[in-house]
Amino acid sequence: MSKYPKPLMLATWSFSARGCQAAWPGLESGGGSLDAVCTVAREAESNPQVDSVGFGGMPDAAGNMSLDASVMLAPDRCGSVCAVTRHLHVADLARLVMERTSHVMLAGEGADSFADALGMPHAELLSPDARAAWKRWRSGEAQVRPNDPGIDSGKIFSSSPIGELHFPHDTVCALAVDTQGVMAGACSTSGLPFKLVGRVGDSPIPGHGLYVDPEGGGAIATGNGELIMGVCGSFLAVECMRRGATPLEAVQEVIERIHRRYKTLPHHQVGMIALSPNGSWSAGALRPGFAVTIADTTGIRSVAPEWVLQHDVEGKQGGIV
Ligand code: ASP
Repeated sequence: MSKYPKPLMLATWSFSARGCQAAWPGLESGGGSLDAVCTVAREAESNPQVDSVGFGGMPDAAGNMSLDASVMLAPDRCGSVCAVTRHLHVADLARLVMERTSHVMLAGEGADSFADALGMPHAELLSPDARAAWKRWRSGEAQVRPNDPGIDSGKIFSSSPIGELHFPHDTVCALAVDTQGVMAGACSTSGLPFKLVGRVGDSPIPGHGLYVDPEGGGAIATGNGELIMGVCGSFLAVECMRRGATPLEAVQEVIERIHRRYKTLPHHQVGMIALSPNGSWSAGALRPGFAVTIADTTGIRSVAPEWVLQHDVEGKQGGIV
């Protein structure tokens, strides 16, 4: 295992700064990377201002909340949950799936029942603001764009172009390396706003929203999950690094491939962070607006990604950037 001289945390979007502040003291003083990334997820899950994760996240088309999450340290150490409706701290729940079962993923009622069996408390997931936003969306006041073709024309349903509301595709994803050189990652999300009931995106699926393999590094992704899923985005980035690509080259490969293989629309976004086993990292995005939060021995800050594919298209971004 590589020995890292210093711990490091990287997380999606600027709202992750709060979680990094909570997690950094433990990581810096020798705590585990998995504890750190779960702390980042918990902070976003509890923050009603983060409208795409946990309490405060946007509901599905029927007005109901469902949460997805994953954690990963290695191909044989990952866990995930999807379509959780009664419990808030879903990254912790994904960790419990990894640690307490021989499975990788639990879905829906099974995931909630598993959390009940472990004594996790129930939580109200729909915030008053999210409910009001859903009502505006449902009544058409939010200027749903007519005939928006979604990812591809001809689809019977496309989620969430919501007019004056922003496009909150802002999953919290974090990667951390601890003082022992162990890398871990976590993702937590309420998914795309007003998604079709039953829709699950990239975040809880190993290799899509999150992938960690100590041999190749780690990658996390946020944005329109359907774009990320079609290219196994995080797995592809790690695989590129395992075969010798730099983190920047790995991120470019993924985002360029998405751009080549999909008809991307102006509201589509993909943001990605890749971290190599030697501690070098990079981030990229399909459009401007993505932000990376870094925590290291020099402090905590949020910056624009190193590389953006399409500078000429005005991307509409969510998050508190
Ligand atoms: N990737 C997430 C999803 O598609 C959304 C996000 O990043 O906020 O479910």
